Amino acid sequence: MLRLTELRLPLDHAPDALAAEIVRRLGIPATDLLDHTVFRRGYDARRRGAVVLVYTVDCMVRDQDAVLARLADDRHVGLAPDTAYRFVVDDGAALAAREGYRRPVVIGAGPCGLLAGLLLAQMGLRPLILERGKIVRERTVDTFALWRKSVLTPESNVQFGEGGAGTFSDGKLYSQVSDPRHYGRKVLAEFVRAGAPEEILYLSKPHIGTFRLVSMVEHIRAEIEALGGEYRFGTRVEEILIARDAAGARRVEGVRLSGGGTVSTGHIVLAIGHSARDTFAMLRDAGVEMRAKPFSIGVRIEHPQSVIDMARFGTQAATPLLGAADYRLVHHAANGRAVYSFCMCPGGTVVAATSEEGRVVTNGMSQYSRAERNANAGIVVGVAPGVDYPDDPLAGIAFQRHWERQAYLAGGGGYRAPAQRVGDFLAGRPSTHLGTVEPSYRPGVTPTDLAACLPDYVVAAMREALPMFERRLRGFSMDDAVMTGVETRTSSPLRIPRGPDGQSVNTAGLYPAGEGAGYAGGILSAGIDGIRVAEAVALTMAGRPVDG
Ligand code: FAD
Repeated sequence: MLRLTELRLPLDHAPDALAAEIVRRLGIPATDLLDHTVFRRGYDARRRGAVVLVYTVDCMVRDQDAVLARLADDRHVGLAPDTAYRFVVDDGAALAAREGYRRPVVIGAGPCGLLAGLLLAQMGLRPLILERGKIVRERTVDTFALWRKSVLTPESNVQFGEGGAGTFSDGKLYSQVSDPRHYGRKVLAEFVRAGAPEEILYLSKPHIGTFRLVSMVEHIRAEIEALGGEYRFGTRVEEILIARDAAGARRVEGVRLSGGGTVSTGHIVLAIGHSARDTFAMLRDAGVEMRAKPFSIGVRIEHPQSVIDMARFGTQAATPLLGAADYRLVHHAANGRAVYSFCMCPGGTVVAATSEEGRVVTNGMSQYSRAERNANAGIVVGVAPGVDYPDDPLAGIAFQRHWERQAYLAGGGGYRAPAQRVGDFLAGRPSTHLGTVEPSYRPGVTPTDLAACLPDYVVAAMREALPMFERRLRGFSMDDAVMTGVETRTSSPLRIPRGPDGQSVNTAGLYPAGEGAGYAGGILSAGIDGIRVAEAVALTMAGRPVDG
């Protein structure tokens, strides 16, 4: 199979234009093209109003070797890599049937825990998945209670519950992580089997929106259970039981659960996400090695989607194939801070995303259609341990909590968020009212001065960045664009280091994974990391070396 990249065609090309372009690029007669499939379709919108589609195509041709030899110098033609997934352990069921078998435990049913659990189940290892929150349908009710009635359920919300943090999201499914083993393909293939649209396999920036995600995590649960795995919801892990061998080395022996009782296990996938602050504190007390890491804080910004569409696509805005436009912006401010757009949600809404009482946290979500009036994105600024807060693993959490509390107070309580017009923010005056852009955050916003709930250096860097972003996207710093604060849960404020065997550097049998441990940032990369650690667990259980 050959792979061709960079096949460029107009937005409105005829269906057979792709085959014609393949034939032209390969310099072969049309009859020599035996088959072709689109591996990836993206677009190049660098020239506004002249957007083109860009394809990567896999094709079967007559006399492939001759074609390859003739085009040896063309870097856009080569052999298609083998992306098929192969299990690393195929005797898991026999292992699990042995007397005294102790199941691997997965803590957390977010994308990382779900993919780890699914892979372990598919390998026959019958995992036990422990999730502090509720099943996804019940969790949806609790999450909407915060948005509609200002009632937060601390164990069941946007951050906690089946599906993890990305369940009420834009469901963007792309990632910048290096993925030489094509695990991302396996994640996407599993998502399609669970009900995601097939297009996620070939679109360069696929997304699925909130409601599909809800039914997908239910499908994944059904498969894990059918394969002998087990879930326990409303079950928070409150202690990792650790034993020491004669030489003093630490090894996990089990977990203690919130409802009382313990589970004995020698293998724990720790996929707790970035908001399990109590669990991080518990792990620290238990002596698990962890380190502070940088993250970012800032606000959500909202514009009319039509402004973003026009700025990016010009006269081609509203072309169905392009959908609602996204953007990605970065500015390096004079005070040394990087300001960048984060988790952009075209045609979506800003959501209340706190998991703790008396705090306000923003994030963004959308439906599959991305048809809401506003575009939103985080505009965030990097902060670092040892510079902005002490270089202690839990200090970043204290820093987040402080600003989330300031936002709650500035919002006036009841989980209303502080908001400001961009024009007022740039002029350094509080907003007393909002303008033409209606904020989508629920349960509501309070016009105020966002400088009260962000560090000075963050405010200064954002004031410098917004006019720069205007140069790239006309309308971006329009007076009536709305900023809603604060965005603090951009990534984990700490890292739980692991060795090449996937295990904690000082606690054998503990496999830190996903976003909370600092190994992922987003749904796809969390799923990829779930596969990685599931393989490490399976190989270790089978007594084979882990090829880190
Ligand atoms: P999580 O998804 O956070 O899952 C961790 C799970 O562990 C939770 O369910 C939690 O309840 C459970 N848990 C924690 N502690 C314990 C304990 N002690 N005992 C038992 N269970 C525990 N990413 C994208 O790629 N695209 C997007 O469009 C996108 N949009 C987002 C929108 C929102 C509103 C949010 C909040 C996030 C969004 N993200 C998005 C980020 C993405 O959701 C995360 O990167 C991803 O979910 C991380 O996966 P994870 O499995 O590592 O952790």
